[in-house]
Amino acid sequence: MHTALLEELRAGVPLERRLAAASPGFRALLERVLAGGELDVDDGVRVLGAEGDDLLALLAVADAIRRTDVGDDVTYVVNRNINFTNICFVGCKFCAFKRQRWEADAYDAPIEVVLAKVQEAIDRGATEICMQGGINPDMEPFTYRDVLRAIKTAFPQIHMHAFSPMEILYGSRRTTMSYRDYLAMLKAEGLGTIPGTAAEILDDDVREVLSHKKVTVQNWIDIVTTAHELGIRSSSTMMYGHIETPRHMAEHVALLRRLQRLTGGFTEFVPLRFIHTDTELYREGLVGDPPPKGIYDLRVYAFSRLMLRGVIDNIQTSWVKLNHELAQVSLLAGANDFGGTLMEESISREAGADAGEYTSAEDMRALIAGVGRRAVERTTLYRKLEAGHTRAANGRSTHGDGARGRSGSGEVSPRPAPCC
Ligand code: SF4
Repeated sequence: MHTALLEELRAGVPLERRLAAASPGFRALLERVLAGGELDVDDGVRVLGAEGDDLLALLAVADAIRRTDVGDDVTYVVNRNINFTNICFVGCKFCAFKRQRWEADAYDAPIEVVLAKVQEAIDRGATEICMQGGINPDMEPFTYRDVLRAIKTAFPQIHMHAFSPMEILYGSRRTTMSYRDYLAMLKAEGLGTIPGTAAEILDDDVREVLSHKKVTVQNWIDIVTTAHELGIRSSSTMMYGHIETPRHMAEHVALLRRLQRLTGGFTEFVPLRFIHTDTELYREGLVGDPPPKGIYDLRVYAFSRLMLRGVIDNIQTSWVKLNHELAQVSLLAGANDFGGTLMEESISREAGADAGEYTSAEDMRALIAGVGRRAVERTTLYRKLEAGHTRAANGRSTHGDGARGRSGSGEVSPRPAPCC
């Protein structure tokens, strides 16, 4: 199915013909975005319902806007996920990563193991460590600071993209520090950016079902905007494909758009498909079988590109959630960033995602080239590195380094983490 869709998208049908085939009202909406107009929430809901010729026109417009606004380069970052503990008391129903402390495969990685993983990542050319974990009830108040300090002391060159808003909330509560003081302390210890995860859908009714102990919408906004004010930028995300409605999605993205206008702190937006396997949401029947991968996801990517036009330029695909082939197709539906090589991604894998946990830079570049685009390695903050040459944090070229397949020292359970 993806091959057929890919062929359809690559058929070279001129945008004008795609637009001409769309229904008049939908075409007017698309032409408004092409002219620089903004979509409101009702428009977003309509876009998320596009079918047939309207859908093909939507995908074509998303691709055209992407080309106009950010060009044809597809960026990616060489990074490693480190999920230092899977012990968590929060109990999100969409999460297959969490463990109770008494479960046989619960783990809390000692700092030596974390440092070894960072070393291994740097040896393979990583410029970023993405670090998140479960919310461990046994954690010492200053653990996050201490882990960060240990890593940055040993490896000052690595960019630390770490601690979700949920972890920031937990850390600030355990230390009795304000968000501002806690974030400022982490910044002083070398925190570079934070993942804009734990967002799921920013609607408290939805969150009550997904995870009633998690950060509220207001907590999430307060933490992220405080981080941005302190110069700690973040990604932004949306988890879709569970109990949310199209209106929830449109309102979620509209909220991110308002926040971005206030702070300018989001580096990118990442739509994340919900992986249902082995989750309570699915087992308890709160969600049914997921829609087939493909059109459903491409519509979300195109919607994101249109809704965020002129506000958040980078729309990142998630090969972990979609799989390589569909992630590749999403580059023709508005996405311009392929995300990270992610040497350890236990959260999605545990919930049944099928793309594995590592894509080498070489493989990523081949996937990007497969849709006729140029792959460019970037930093976390989207500074493009030398084209055609993967530059390691230690200055080594990493092309042809043979780094493939699963990573791992074997000591930290190689499981995924979604907070996250
Ligand atoms: S998503 Fe994060 S906070 Fe929620 S249960 Fe999983 S590990 Fe815990």
